[in-house]
Amino acid sequence: MDKSFMIKEIKRLKEEKNTVILAHYYQDGDIQDIADFTGDSLYLSQVASKTAADTILFAGVHFMAETAKILSPEKTVLLPVKEAGCPMADMVTKVRLMSYKEKHPERIVVCYVNSTAEVKALSDICVTSSNAEKIIKHYQGQKMLYVPDKNLGTYLREKYDLDMEVWPGFCCIHNDLTIDQVEMMKLKYPNAKFIVHPEAKLEIVKIADFAGSTKGLLNYVIESDHDEFIIGTENGIIHTMEKACPNKKFHILTDNLACYDMKLTRLEDIYYALKDNKYVIEVEESIRLKAFKALDKMMKLS
Ligand code: SF4
Repeated sequence: MDKSFMIKEIKRLKEEKNTVILAHYYQDGDIQDIADFTGDSLYLSQVASKTAADTILFAGVHFMAETAKILSPEKTVLLPVKEAGCPMADMVTKVRLMSYKEKHPERIVVCYVNSTAEVKALSDICVTSSNAEKIIKHYQGQKMLYVPDKNLGTYLREKYDLDMEVWPGFCCIHNDLTIDQVEMMKLKYPNAKFIVHPEAKLEIVKIADFAGSTKGLLNYVIESDHDEFIIGTENGIIHTMEKACPNKKFHILTDNLACYDMKLTRLEDIYYALKDNKYVIEVEESIRLKAFKALDKMMKLS
């Protein structure tokens, strides 16, 4: 199908089926451009909880669509590519977390939103990379466990001197960044500021000019007086940065900064998802209610 015709059809179906399209910043530019809302996990969760649409089509990965369903159980939530998951989210399971909690009942479980509904249901509160620092301050002085991202957890623990154990999960995209890559890019672009997502290892975060969530990085480049940046996060954000700052230059730290799962979704998947009403996300009600509590607490403290 011709691309411009497909875009027209997506817009037509979207209206006809009263559907809102949410796209994460890590999606391809084409998909971000046809979405009603683009953003990071926190922003899209907030949109999902307030939308008046009957259907939410989530261009992202499974845990994001699942989060939308937890927050809006009365809506139909669609994930265009069934297989689009998040390896980090799968690194903590219900069984392992239950076993940890039995041994450490005193620890408050703080759960990164990049996790399954079952894991959220076992947690005391959720956080995203945008609000983790704000939320964690409410628990300073208490014993915590952070799941599943060891890098973001370690970053928070060091920064706020927390009594917090961290689960050994990681994002395979950010965890692979190295000091050598940063040094090479700094030699190539000596005037560029290096900015990174805290899902990278602490040693990388420490040499960055700025570390923050995807939205935090976007705000930084918009507000900065500098006009050249080395970007240490998933390459989809460069599309948004270039649109927001057409006169600034952005260099991706390494060509490997593309999330396989995020990039599974193509325009035609959005079209078929709308046309055939697929793939519908369901969350079992007893799990949803518990996961909702952890997400709701996050929303209230954000
Ligand atoms: S970028 Fe990392 S955390 Fe995000 S979906 Fe991909 S693997 Fe998961």
